[in-house]
Amino acid sequence: MTGPASASDRQVAVTEVSPRDGLQSEQAFVPTEDKIRLVEGLIAAGICSVELTSFVSPRAVPQMRDAAELVRHFRGRPGIRFSALVPNPRGAEAAIAAGIDAVVMFASASESHNRKNLNRSRADSMAGFQKIARSAEGAGVALHGAIATAFGCPFEGDVPIGQLVDQAMRYRDIGIARITLGDTTGMATPGNVLPALDALRKAVPEVAIALHFHNTRGVGLACAYAGLLHGIRDFEASVGGIGGCPFVPRATGNIATEDFVYMCEESGYPTGIDLARLIEAAGTAERILGRELPGQVMKAGLRLALAGSDTVRTATG
Ligand code: ZN
Repeated sequence: MTGPASASDRQVAVTEVSPRDGLQSEQAFVPTEDKIRLVEGLIAAGICSVELTSFVSPRAVPQMRDAAELVRHFRGRPGIRFSALVPNPRGAEAAIAAGIDAVVMFASASESHNRKNLNRSRADSMAGFQKIARSAEGAGVALHGAIATAFGCPFEGDVPIGQLVDQAMRYRDIGIARITLGDTTGMATPGNVLPALDALRKAVPEVAIALHFHNTRGVGLACAYAGLLHGIRDFEASVGGIGGCPFVPRATGNIATEDFVYMCEESGYPTGIDLARLIEAAGTAERILGRELPGQVMKAGLRLALAGSDTVRTATG
């Protein structure tokens, strides 16, 4: 041991994914000005990395049809990194032309989810990624890779770690420096996250790993904490816990950014984010969507925001 870790060793980076991952399953189109209001509130809270949108077919995902407009609105903000998901070279070119800072390619760790989600094989996806990599490099745009169903696939069940490592190595080979492991349908547990991280650290030590958990089965934050203990300092989350299917009762989506930030800050992992303002942004998200969101700290408030004792009735029992 070399003594206590310094504060900078424990600094956690948070990428906010609500405008993309959170909103994409919303059936009703969220007006562009509301998306802008949401993102402005997040930036005011200290968020400095935002997955803003995805450049997919507007017919397939009408919610993202204002992708270029959103990117143009936010382009060139100092100190903030805006990223967008791109499924193919055409999407990447549109994102780069609009002024995005980073493009995120995505493939699944499992073949059947890749075919369902992207309508092509993993091998075909990789061929497209090489083209995307060349356009991004030419334009000086950062290149990220996401692996969906990293900890389990709804069609195939457990994903062998070898498949995850294989996808990570393919990404590395085309020059990707940051890979996000996405728990698309909430199948991660600390029990499968830790061995996956061990294997990836050995196989691709030069690649930065980010984690993206869903709270579908209630263990999203436990998985995130396992990642923190393993040394991961790069996480994705969605304010208010937006995401998941709005038509399935209690099918919660991503871990809520404010719940994650609360856990980090209370556990000695600074995030640089103002939790009170983040809770305000969660309130904005709730007003925009017009329904209660699953985030918990947004309801309970800060831990030391104590109630006056005279506001609570004394129990008589
Ligand atoms: Zn997600």
